[in-house]
Amino acid sequence: MRLGPGRSRVRDIAMPLALLLLPALAAANDLVRLDKSRLEQQFLLQTSYEQPNAVQDFMTSRSRLVTFRRQGNALRMVEPRRHEIHPHRMLATIPIRDETARELTIDFNAGFKRIFEQEDRTGEDYYGRLDRDYYASIRLTDRHLLDVSRNGPMLVIRQSGRDEAGNRLIVHYYLTPYRRNPDFVPFEIENLDHFGFYETYPRRRAGRTVLYAMKFDVRQPIVFALSARIPASRRQAVRDGVRYWNKALGAEKLRVIDAPEGVTAPDASYNVIEWLPERDQGSTSHIQSDPLTGEILHANIFLRSGAVGEGNRARQDDHLRYVVAHEVGHALGLRHNFAHGPVSTVMNYFDFEQAVRIGNDVIESGAEALEYDRKVVRYVYLGEPVDVDALPPFCTDNQAECSSFPRLSAERSRH
Ligand SMILES: [Zn+2]
Repeated sequence: MRLGPGRSRVRDIAMPLALLLLPALAAANDLVRLDKSRLEQQFLLQTSYEQPNAVQDFMTSRSRLVTFRRQGNALRMVEPRRHEIHPHRMLATIPIRDETARELTIDFNAGFKRIFEQEDRTGEDYYGRLDRDYYASIRLTDRHLLDVSRNGPMLVIRQSGRDEAGNRLIVHYYLTPYRRNPDFVPFEIENLDHFGFYETYPRRRAGRTVLYAMKFDVRQPIVFALSARIPASRRQAVRDGVRYWNKALGAEKLRVIDAPEGVTAPDASYNVIEWLPERDQGSTSHIQSDPLTGEILHANIFLRSGAVGEGNRARQDDHLRYVVAHEVGHALGLRHNFAHGPVSTVMNYFDFEQAVRIGNDVIESGAEALEYDRKVVRYVYLGEPVDVDALPPFCTDNQAECSSFPRLSAERSRH
C-alpha cells in the first residue's frame, strides 16, 4: 500500500505540521489513526464504488452521518436513528490495533466489509415520501486498502475487494468531521408535479416530512474538471455542454478547467468529467450530497466515447454537446423531464437528429437556453420567482404514464 496518490507528495512532506493542525484523522500504513477527542462526534461518510463487470460500473452509496463509539478493543461506527421509529444502526465494527493517550489506531479494512446498496440521490417517485429502514448491502471479501490520503480534514481511503460473484470492486470512502455549510440555503421540494430535482432522503422536521433538492452552493464557482482522457478534438464540445448551464442560469456559475495531471473520476477534490470506452450502456452522472441539506459535495460524469454518435465531425460534436448538457444537468441535480411536446429542456431523450439540432441550434449557438431549463434552474439555484403552473409540461422517470419514448439518444440506462 502506498500512502496517498502521487500528486499528494507535497502533503506527505507537510504531514508533521498537518498532524499538529489537524490531529483528528491521520493514516499510516494499512492502519488509520483517530483522535480520541473525535469519539462521539459526527462524521460524514460518503462512499462510491467502481464495479467494472457490472451493468452500472460506477455507483454511489447513501451518504450518512455517523459516530464512532468505543467498546473494548473495537470501535463501533453507529448511524444514529433518523426517525423515532427506527433503531440506531451499527454499521461497522472496527478493531483497535494500538492506542496512545490521545489516539487510537484502527484497522479500517477489517471493519469496512460491506457497501450499502441505497444510492445517494433519491426521488419520491421511486419510494414515496418515506425513508425506508433499508440496509441491503454488498458483502466484500478479499479486501485490502489501496491507499489512504488526506484532503484537508477529509480522510480519503481506497479499498479493493470482491463481491459474492468474485468480481473485483474498488471502493472510495470520504470521511470528514461533519460541519454543515452555514451559508447554504436548502430548497425544499414539495412535490414532483411541475419540475424535478434529485432529492435528499426524507427527514422529519418539526412534525412533518421534508425533502430537499440536491444542488450546489452557487456562492462559489461550480468547477468541472475535464479528464486528460477526453480527446483533444472533443474538448471544446464538452466545454460547450457544461457552459450551456451558464446560459440557463444567466450567470457564469459553472467553470470548466483541465483536470490536473493524474486526476481521474472519482476524485475527492474535483468534479471530474471522465471519458470511457463505449460499452453497452450510456453516459452517466453521479452526485453525493450533504444528507441534511442536499448541498452537492461531489459530482462525477462518465461520458462514453459512443456519445459522439454518427455522421461528420460537426454532427458528432453537436450530439456530444447535447449529451454533456444532459449529464451536467443531472450533476446539477435535475431529473429527467420526459413530457411530450415542443422541445423545452435538455433533460429529455431525443432521437439522433433532434439531439444534433439541439447541440447546434441551442448549445453551440448564442441562443438562450431552453425554457424549462432556464426557469427551473434559476428558481431552485437563484431563487428567481416562477409561476410553476406556467412552466412547460413535466413528468419524470417513475411517475405514472411518463414514458421516455424515444429512448434513443442520450442513454440506454436510467441515468
Ligand atoms: Zn439522463
